[in-house]
Amino acid sequence: MVASLNEKLESAYQEVLRRNPGEIEFHQAVREVLETLGPVLAKYPEFAEHKIIQRICEPERQIIFRVPWQDDQGQVQINRGFRVEFNSALGPYKGGLRFHPSVYLGIIKFLGFEQVFKNALTGMPIGGGKGGSDFDPKGKSNSEIMRFCQSFMTELYRHLGEYTDVPAGDIGVGGREIGYLFGQYKRITNRYESGILTGKGLDWGGSRVRTEATGYGTIFFVNEMLKARGDGLEGKTCVVSGSGNVAIYAIEKATELGAKVIACSDSNGVIIDQNGLDLDLIKQIKEIERRRISVYAQEKKGATYLESGNIWTIPCQVALPCATQNELHGKDAETLVKNGCIAVAEGANMPTTPEGIRVFQESGIAYGPGKAANAGGVATSALEMQQNASRDSWSFEYTEQRLQDIMINIHRNCHETAAEFGAPGNYVVGANITGFFKVARSMVAMGLI
Ligand code: GLU
Repeated sequence: MVASLNEKLESAYQEVLRRNPGEIEFHQAVREVLETLGPVLAKYPEFAEHKIIQRICEPERQIIFRVPWQDDQGQVQINRGFRVEFNSALGPYKGGLRFHPSVYLGIIKFLGFEQVFKNALTGMPIGGGKGGSDFDPKGKSNSEIMRFCQSFMTELYRHLGEYTDVPAGDIGVGGREIGYLFGQYKRITNRYESGILTGKGLDWGGSRVRTEATGYGTIFFVNEMLKARGDGLEGKTCVVSGSGNVAIYAIEKATELGAKVIACSDSNGVIIDQNGLDLDLIKQIKEIERRRISVYAQEKKGATYLESGNIWTIPCQVALPCATQNELHGKDAETLVKNGCIAVAEGANMPTTPEGIRVFQESGIAYGPGKAANAGGVATSALEMQQNASRDSWSFEYTEQRLQDIMINIHRNCHETAAEFGAPGNYVVGANITGFFKVARSMVAMGLI
């Protein structure tokens, strides 16, 4: 069953389908937002009059480019690069770069669209954008990664600027890639412009806590959801999908707050450790050795590895999808609820399918969508921009406090807005309306742009 849209929203959605054929992830992200906007348009008719819905669904600019590079065998390889500059009503385009073989325009547009609302929710002055490539970093040497990043930046640099567009990382793009990208930008332009990228190294303009921010923020958010129900994360059993940057720091903060994380995964399988995951070992395997998570079970007594296992069948009280889009389906949501799960917070972007979201919402458990729950990453990128602009560098404690305050604020705004619009406890409604409202009001104020 799909929720219905009112007439104006339905026609805007049909137009999105017609103009963006085949981009199913983009359609899904747009539909999820439009399904919640009916009451806002009823209350503020000027948004319809100014065609805000139609404008917000159309990116301001879309850049697609060739990325030629040479592999270690001397063979020429060609990939496709993207940067979708979605909306700049609130600030320069801000959002990560994803390097993954599944990347095509529809994925970048769904991510860019979500980023607009997420960034608005952070309360920081940042617009929304996203980029990336269908390049597969898996199994590539450092030199290949470097040559690819240099070629990618050789086209992208002309579109960037601290007041224009400021990329960061996402899946497949971490500190190493940001380093190569920044180096090439600096070399081509002969300018040391810290403000053109975030997620930089701590020695050269990066912010403390940026690496940890998305995972930490997701945990702060789920803790707030539980607190709003008179509960908390302490003593809870958690399951975290993925084992990349978001998952690792979600595990770290959850453990710090007294929860026990018993499972995580990668695209090959799942590891379970009922004693609680050994994070140092996971960091060693994933961040230093860049190997598969199955190695954990070989090295840790008592741990098990399920090749192609489904992580959502493991009973837990708190589920944290931190891998990728559409990784948690309707059936998985039913299993989680049946097994006693009371809260879900999304560290990944759009990890739960529309059927899964419906199951969570009908069951009455606390469900925090990615737009709100994973906004800590980009919020800390905005803090990095702030430090760069003032040529300053803050302590870990201060930066983490700022992140926590931002997450508490996002939670409060979503919670209050949901209640105000007649959907108490519905964080999807709360996040979409809060984010939309700020962007829509700014677009009206700025005239027809
Ligand atoms: N890729 C992250 C996200 O999905 C972070 C983007 C950024 O820091 O600009 O929000």
